[in-house]
Amino acid sequence: MGFYKAEYIWVDGSEPTSKLRSKGKIVPEGEEPPIWGFDGSSTNQASGDDSDCVLRPVYSIPDPIRGGNNILVMCEVLLTDLSPHPTNTRAACAEAAAKYADFDMWFGIEQEYTFFDGATPLGWPENGFPAPQGGYYCGVGSDEVFGRPVVEDHMDACLDAGLDISGINAEVMPAQWEFQIGPTRAPEVADQVWLARWLLYRIGEKYDVSARLDPKPVLGDWNGAGAHTNFSTRQMRENYDACIAAAEALKSNHDEHIANYGDRIELRLTGLHETCSYKEFRYGVSDRGASVRIPWQVDVDQKGYIEDRRPNANMDPYKVTGLILNTVCGAASA
Ligand code: ADP
Ligand code: MN
Ligand code: MN
Ligand code: MN
Repeated sequence: MGFYKAEYIWVDGSEPTSKLRSKGKIVPEGEEPPIWGFDGSSTNQASGDDSDCVLRPVYSIPDPIRGGNNILVMCEVLLTDLSPHPTNTRAACAEAAAKYADFDMWFGIEQEYTFFDGATPLGWPENGFPAPQGGYYCGVGSDEVFGRPVVEDHMDACLDAGLDISGINAEVMPAQWEFQIGPTRAPEVADQVWLARWLLYRIGEKYDVSARLDPKPVLGDWNGAGAHTNFSTRQMRENYDACIAAAEALKSNHDEHIANYGDRIELRLTGLHETCSYKEFRYGVSDRGASVRIPWQVDVDQKGYIEDRRPNANMDPYKVTGLILNTVCGAASA
């Protein structure tokens, strides 16, 4: 009898920022990956005397690393009564997406990250700093970019897995990179971001390089790492006024968004380094110093999408997309 390997991947209960865990299961060929479980007392999701947590598969993709008929399985965590675990942020995201399905919201998420070699950003001198920022963004050459083989491998893996990866680029701080997922609907876009993060870490093992989502990996005059979240409703894709209304809705709920856009956001949203201070909310055409940017092409076309520049690299995409759905579609329904 044949079988395949299913790597079950889930989001744990680490505080203040949850992280990914995974383990492998051998499944008989022809069968779907079943509900499974894990020891929640080792992931900050249960106490030792009542440790069982449940894994329910929600999104499966071909495993681009093991190949063959093997798969990666994004899971949500349930309690043993099969209700969502308190750390399960996907359930509320899926609920918001279902409630506002008529809006047909699409998301494009730009995931920035930083490669580390031990405690030092990849390619940086052990003591001191590389030349100041300015030439690294979208750079080329071994003195400007660090880790490209990992980036290329990761992009291919995402494509082989059928993820909606739409591009990559080297970022402003050396050793910092970005990939984009979308445009895709929630909660699948968030499932894909988590899976793409897992693939990045897993591929980094082969190169002995770690990718980190720290929002401000180096203090001082170095760019932080964000996760700009672009989105559009059907109305926004047809009409500019709907784009402005979405920006205004975000303005009216700024504090709740900041509170849910990733730990240590105040270190990154300082008003410098292409950010707007977390204490303010501003939107504008082409403005990379704003909280929300309206791309110039959207201004020309008078329709399209807008970019929420506030989310940190270490954000939970289930929380961010769920909150944008509730704020923007909620205001449009009022
Ligand atoms: P930036 O200029 O901010 O670096 P990127 O090209 O990195 O922008 O990312 C833009 C993201 O927006 C991409 O993931 C793209 O797929 C997504 N996007 C494009 N059009 C839409 C749309 N109508 N709705 C939602 N997302 C969109
Ligand atoms: Mn980008
Ligand atoms: Mn970027
Ligand atoms: Mn951007």
